[in-house]
Amino acid sequence: MRYKLLFFALLFTVICVAQNVKSPSEFLGYELGTHFSRHHQVIAYYEYLAEQFPQMMKLKPYGTTYEGRELLVAFVSSDENIHNLEAIQKEHMQAIENGTSPGKAIVWLSYNVHGNESVSTEASMQTIYEVLTVKKDWLANTIVVFDPCINPDGRDRYVNWYNSFKNTPNNVDINSKEHHEGWLSGRPNHYMFDLNRDWAWVTQKESKQRVKLYNEWLPHIHVDFHEQGINNPYYFAPAAEPMHEVITDWQKDFQTAIGKNHAKYFDKEGWLYFTKEVFDLLYPSYGDTYPIYNGSIGMTYEQGGSGRAGLGVITANKDTLTLKDRIAHHYTTGLSTIEMAANNVKALNDEFGKFYGHRDFEYNSYVLSGDKDKIGALTHLLDVHSIKYGFTTGKLRGFNYKDQKNEDLSENNTKLVVSTNQPKATLVKVLFEPQTKLSDSLTYDITAWSLPYAYGLDAIATGNIVNTNTNAPAYTITSINNATYGYVTDWNSMDDARFLTALLKNKINVRVAEEPFEINGKTFNRGSLIILKGDNAHKKDYVSILNDAVNKYHKELTPATSGFVDSGKDFGSDAVKMIKSPKIAALSGGSVSTLNFGEVWHFFEQQLHYPVTVLDDAYFDRVDLAEYDILILPQLHNLEDYRLKSIKDWIRAGGKLIAMGNSISVLENDDDFSIVEKDGKKNDSIQKPEPYAISTREYIKKTITGAIYKAKVDTTHPLAYGYNNIYYTLKLSGDAYEFLESENAVYIEDTQKPLAGFAGSEAQKLQNNSLVFGSEDMGRGKIVYMVDDPLFRGFWENGKLFFVNALFMLE
Ligand SMILES: [Zn+2]
Repeated sequence: MRYKLLFFALLFTVICVAQNVKSPSEFLGYELGTHFSRHHQVIAYYEYLAEQFPQMMKLKPYGTTYEGRELLVAFVSSDENIHNLEAIQKEHMQAIENGTSPGKAIVWLSYNVHGNESVSTEASMQTIYEVLTVKKDWLANTIVVFDPCINPDGRDRYVNWYNSFKNTPNNVDINSKEHHEGWLSGRPNHYMFDLNRDWAWVTQKESKQRVKLYNEWLPHIHVDFHEQGINNPYYFAPAAEPMHEVITDWQKDFQTAIGKNHAKYFDKEGWLYFTKEVFDLLYPSYGDTYPIYNGSIGMTYEQGGSGRAGLGVITANKDTLTLKDRIAHHYTTGLSTIEMAANNVKALNDEFGKFYGHRDFEYNSYVLSGDKDKIGALTHLLDVHSIKYGFTTGKLRGFNYKDQKNEDLSENNTKLVVSTNQPKATLVKVLFEPQTKLSDSLTYDITAWSLPYAYGLDAIATGNIVNTNTNAPAYTITSINNATYGYVTDWNSMDDARFLTALLKNKINVRVAEEPFEINGKTFNRGSLIILKGDNAHKKDYVSILNDAVNKYHKELTPATSGFVDSGKDFGSDAVKMIKSPKIAALSGGSVSTLNFGEVWHFFEQQLHYPVTVLDDAYFDRVDLAEYDILILPQLHNLEDYRLKSIKDWIRAGGKLIAMGNSISVLENDDDFSIVEKDGKKNDSIQKPEPYAISTREYIKKTITGAIYKAKVDTTHPLAYGYNNIYYTLKLSGDAYEFLESENAVYIEDTQKPLAGFAGSEAQKLQNNSLVFGSEDMGRGKIVYMVDDPLFRGFWENGKLFFVNALFMLE
């Protein structure tokens, strides 16, 4: 009740002061907090304010979402600052290069990154209105950037769902449907990606566009507004351990100062909150850490609420939590943050300059060597982050990522060099260092992400700054003609995979070599593609289709004037197989993980560009599986026996099942699948009772929260085409499986510790001699086991070809 009174009091003040400019409630036609506003209404209100305050507010659209909704930010400041916005931006960005301290503070407030954490966009409207109408004094030296909604598709999915299912009037009983979302729901964006895990990897359209704009501004303070479970009090900074070692004392201290300012307002209202717990600062792809590694005070604020809360809900304490309460809290911390910026303009600028000044790091250059396409994929990522790089050739010595000791990186090819003698030094260290220092293993996210491993590149780290040139590895694009017998090309990157799907979709016949061979004095490995004129005699536009694909994916094809090879199998051999264009389905709904399903969905549509049919759990049994060549089981925890039986019948008749992550443990219970889970339970007998208070720490012995392991690769297995004998796998759980009798494509041998990241002692033992990727026959069909998820968050670039091989190469 107290909350409500305060809120009305706030509204009243605001209405009196603002006079003829409409408050959110007046504009929307309902009292803020009594309905969820749809995204277009929010945009309309921002546009309305920009019209009312043309001197103080400037809108900047920065893109659209997958579903076509608009993305924009609003710059709010004094008349003078808005008039000089470009000059202020320029001066601020120069501070990064030359360590100066200009006189304006920049605060960036990001709302609603998580779709169903939908209070924050509502709060943004109240906050911007208050700043424009009442808090003008703060704007003399402060620029506030409002992003009203980072994730409009996720927000509208929730809001439209809620509006469809809510009771009238809304029902605060948590058992009512309005508090229980359906399957495709929750925090993520259209493709079920968590945008608060995507700042560093920018796999999603929304992130790519936003991070680009963010890097043009690099604010002093960034806030990411969230919600957590309904029974949690409010969370704000300072954050919890583990914190990355690069985080400066100033960044920590100022988080605390901001937290104390919030506490002052919360204490006055008698509101509960907590700090220094749960939300740590390590994984670099969050909306708090990414800004921190770019010199900002990055923070996460968490209100209790989320998809369960609706317009009101009864909590465990028998309190009624309303949307109005939730708005009031985010509104309060938003304003308090701007106040802190306005009162600390000089310190923020001085410290920002220092952050971008010289930093002492153990390693100062990262030198990477490998396939041109993989180097290219990595440089695309670096470009989004404004990270500078160069190239070099010749022999270099340093800490070798593969063997974890000082060695030469000696191949004579062109190498990518990323050094710390640039403004983005800190981000470079965080993304490239071989091992991230962990101050505490209690973190709720992955503890390893080092980019040389993720991109499958050979790499050394050295303390020296390596001299570079601008000569990127060059491509010689092949011109196709109709006279040549055929063309051959290598197979080792996602660009190669996209090249293949472009041809298959255009009905071009492509063959794959199951054995290495030599032609024109050049050796081709297993998995190399062979495109023959004779196979495509039916295609009138064969030359132009092939030319288009070659140019689009900058492919270097080797012309073959004959099918007679210098060594290995001739093109007419049984070992040179025609690649089929499989019809592929993926299971969704039911107990399928929405996140893993989203990774599969996004992979097909946005990365591989190949069609996938989404079969829902609700009608799966009525679908004739015989229409499909491949069925993908994303992670799931339940599959009914009768359903598994129909899947087995389909496999025996020639189907190929790809089982990912924990869906394997569902298959494991069925004797027809030979996969066996390694049992850690035997070791579980209690040796010595542990005190109650350390139970969480005991629990983590059994877990792996994202660690990198060195795995062996059987390069003769079709799943492994395009790989060499080592693969760095990102392990996301402690689950482990015994070797298969044969067809172990990738596996962890002997006793292995992770190369990087945390693995609990018991979980670690289970990984010894365990399967990563493998396959087995069942009748005329095949099962592919993918214990680790190569599509995880879309960023483990070097794992993706295993998945592609499972689709096209393995028969
Ligand atoms: Zn959230």
